[in-house]
Amino acid sequence: MEVRHILGISGGKDSAALAIYLKNKYPHMNIVYYNSDTGCELAETDLLISRLETYLGGITKLRAAEGSPEPTPFEHFLKASGNYLPSPQARWCTQKMKLAEMERFVGDIPTISYVGIRGDEDREGYVSTKSNIQSIFPFRKNIWSIDVIHKVLHNDNLSKLVELYKLYTPESIADKVLEVAAMPITKDFFYGKKANALLDLDVKLFNKVVFESLKGTDCPIGMLDEFPLIDNDDVLVKADIFRILEESGVGVPAYYNPVPFEVDGKIGYYSRSRSGCYFCFFQQKIEWIWLYEQHPDLYAKAMEFEKDGYTWNQNESLADLIKPERVRQIKLDAIKKQEAARTKEQNCKLIDTLGSSEEDAFCASCFI
Ligand code: SF4
Repeated sequence: MEVRHILGISGGKDSAALAIYLKNKYPHMNIVYYNSDTGCELAETDLLISRLETYLGGITKLRAAEGSPEPTPFEHFLKASGNYLPSPQARWCTQKMKLAEMERFVGDIPTISYVGIRGDEDREGYVSTKSNIQSIFPFRKNIWSIDVIHKVLHNDNLSKLVELYKLYTPESIADKVLEVAAMPITKDFFYGKKANALLDLDVKLFNKVVFESLKGTDCPIGMLDEFPLIDNDDVLVKADIFRILEESGVGVPAYYNPVPFEVDGKIGYYSRSRSGCYFCFFQQKIEWIWLYEQHPDLYAKAMEFEKDGYTWNQNESLADLIKPERVRQIKLDAIKKQEAARTKEQNCKLIDTLGSSEEDAFCASCFI
């Protein structure tokens, strides 16, 4: 059966680096790269995507609400929702403009989706509600999604797991490996702990056992005769991502570049910490100020969407955010945070101090 390989280009650095990495490392894999166009990206993001398009030899563009009279998909859905702005609690934007489009694009074909969550990040990726879409995380030590780990390590599957380990484990490490493989899942030895214990013993062996265990199931990976990533134990972290982008010539998205500002003789820096719509409500206050000062036209447009009592930020409109005293305070707060970060770690990049903790499992579609 045909199994499709796809990789979503969000406009962020990690998905860009993953596309470059997989193209170079596995040139024979037939990966379809796609981008969900919201019509609301920064020009810097559009430039990155067009450079990548040249590098990769093509990116399929998906656009929700095609044929709508509204200028952008976002405006189409905003109108349909009665001007109800999306928020972290009501994130209809990602669902309607990106996830639904991706699932429509995939249809019912068994599909493996490659996602650029890095080895130095501690979070799970989005698991599609469609069983024919399986996520793989090539930058992590554990390339498998949580649903696969549950399936393979489930106690109902314990004897099969042990049999597979017996079949593939080299004699030299067999005692320890088989002891761990035979341990059942309990509330103290749960799925993540068991997966990590087995990965720590041998990553490639674990991958081989998972791959073989999935055969005969309806998991897309299980339909493949071979899967080259099971022999890959690379773990890539943030520094690797910047290196890949720079060495490829595609470059780091320009919105990451720190721009200096000055308040009371003190120097701070601002930039945008990640991709996504210019009005994204996950932005920090200092990023809104960056938008106001570096892209005033886009800030003005974001302000226009604030009507009928809806605002992008809780308890503060964009008009209030740019009052001179407020701008000054936001900048001083940013300088303080950056000074503290510099003290903590000399080489701390600006985006480390801007990184948000509000990312969730949907983030791959917008920010990776
Ligand atoms: S980037 Fe932000 S505003 Fe745009 S779709 Fe994603 S979460 Fe929504």
